[in-house]
Amino acid sequence: TSAAAPYKRVLLKVSGEALMGKGSFGLDPDTVSAIAADICDVHSMGTEVCLVIGGGNIFRGIAAAARGMERAQGDYAGMLATVINALMMQNALEGRGVATRVMSAIQMSSIAEPYIRRRAVRHMEKGRVVIFAAGTGNPFFTTDTAAALRAAEMDCSALFKGTQVDGVYSADPRKDPAAERYDELTYMDVLSRDLNVMDASAISLARENNLPIIVFNIHAPGAFAQVMRGEGPFTRIV
Ligand code: UDP
Repeated sequence: TSAAAPYKRVLLKVSGEALMGKGSFGLDPDTVSAIAADICDVHSMGTEVCLVIGGGNIFRGIAAAARGMERAQGDYAGMLATVINALMMQNALEGRGVATRVMSAIQMSSIAEPYIRRRAVRHMEKGRVVIFAAGTGNPFFTTDTAAALRAAEMDCSALFKGTQVDGVYSADPRKDPAAERYDELTYMDVLSRDLNVMDASAISLARENNLPIIVFNIHAPGAFAQVMRGEGPFTRIV
């Protein structure tokens, strides 16, 4: 372990949409590979890394429900989408020589280990990157909540939320040129101003467990390692 590693163990939440690249659906292998490269950088700093991957690039229960599908059934399909993304990410990481394990909240023993908390911790202690798939395993939740839950269970020092923009803004910076990025916010700021960062259950869980959330741009090459060293831009929620 490098003495310079600023965090012992972190969780990175990657949304499904982050894997689409310039497309509007599914996975772009170059984008997955670029994110994997950043994860390898951080791993090589000596920090233990685990991941929660979303599924919104393939299937979202709430969107399916809006078109007549039973919500819970749609959510199970959404959780399966996260497994596809997890396998892609596993492949990209292993291609770069990093040992990984996919642990699924829904049992799928032929392709992933079942999620067992103490086993996940052990994998990380052995230097493996653990990819948590299938969200929380429950419908009506999101992978943001799964990320806060797993980060708390794994006793992570921080939850890194990789997004399409470099932090939390007062408005959508892609639509409003006057939007300003916050350097730091409290959990209560996010909840009371209904800022679009993570859903309220994820923020509440992070707050109860004093888990800092660091929001940064996952597409800026090297940003994950840079943000880990405390170099901006990012927004810290504490
Ligand atoms: N999902 C769920 N329970 C969970 C996590 C996810 O039911 O604990 C379902 C839900 O339908 C969600 C989909 O999986 O829409 C994909 O996850 P999410 O929307 O969080 O992915 P992201 O927005 O990060 O790509």
